[in-house]
Amino acid sequence: MHPRALITGLAGQDGSYLAELLLDKGYEVHGIVRRTSIEDTEHKLKNLHAILDKIHMHVASLDNVLSLVRIIRNISPDECYHLAASSFVSYSFEDEISILGNNVNSTHYLLAALREFAPSCKFYFSGSSEMFGNAINSPQDENTPFNPRSIYGISKVAGFQLVKNYRQQYGFFACSGILYNHESQRRGYEFVTRKIVSSAVRIKFGLQEAVELGNLEARRDWGYAPDYVNAMWLMMHADSPDDYVIASGETHSVKEFAEAAFAHLDLDFNKYAKINLDLFRPTENIVLRGNPSKAMSMLKWKPTKSFDDIIKEMVEGEIKLYEPGRKTSDLLTPGDSK
Ligand code: GDP
Repeated sequence: MHPRALITGLAGQDGSYLAELLLDKGYEVHGIVRRTSIEDTEHKLKNLHAILDKIHMHVASLDNVLSLVRIIRNISPDECYHLAASSFVSYSFEDEISILGNNVNSTHYLLAALREFAPSCKFYFSGSSEMFGNAINSPQDENTPFNPRSIYGISKVAGFQLVKNYRQQYGFFACSGILYNHESQRRGYEFVTRKIVSSAVRIKFGLQEAVELGNLEARRDWGYAPDYVNAMWLMMHADSPDDYVIASGETHSVKEFAEAAFAHLDLDFNKYAKINLDLFRPTENIVLRGNPSKAMSMLKWKPTKSFDDIIKEMVEGEIKLYEPGRKTSDLLTPGDSK
């Protein structure tokens, strides 16, 4: 019998890498996708094109507990990976209310449905370095108090506490990864890394003249997405469930990232950079840097790619999108996200 996994957020960067990893390990892979994704597979499921015929997709909305119950009863998963979350940082009241509600409720609904209908299913929850927010020390580890300063961060802290509660109260095999930024060629264009890489390649090909960015001195702890997905699987196969910080342990500035990306294309970033003050964030907190020692010692996890190797792979992946015969759906013009 193949182990059965259920993934939320299947179509995203992490979901698609996780589905590939689990297929390689012989799993039967099920995922929850939105109706709008099924109606536009070319764009919305582009990360899954290579494996579409190998995975089972279920259309549901995570804010509908009944549809989740139905899926869980039908497939009776052995492992559930909850990656989906609204992460869009917005300052509108409406978004604030729905981001908090959706993120917390979806985690709660899944846990409650599993407890009722698949109590031996293991559960993984993707937390975020945003939970440390305005961190009180650096680097952060599993003992660092949370101090979120965004609605997204608050929703992740609430999800994390729900997972912990199900583990402690009901003996669930439930664990959380506190994941720092992790990048790849499947990263969305709204993130600065993909924006830089796609702009650099477009500049190289004469399709764009400059790249507009916000704070170049902002620093992040950037890792390689497939490594982070591997950490999720390792957590689910540890002797006992626990929570782990997954990070590279080093930080780099946006400028360092951009200089390296442009250098891979023999371009000088400083010649093409334009600073747009509108792209600055209102509050940039103390630098978030994770300490992944616990995952390294307990899970034998370790990153496989250096900062420069990640950038190189992203640049090479972006260039491939322009090869003749590639679907234009792979290419979106980067917007000015911040
Ligand atoms: P996240 O904020 O950690 O989720 O990741 P992002 O990739 O969106 O942003 C990383 C950092 O890049 C932040 O500190 C931003 O302020 C900074 N940054 C500078 N210019 C830009 C830009 O044009 N777009 C985005 N998204 N971030 C930018």
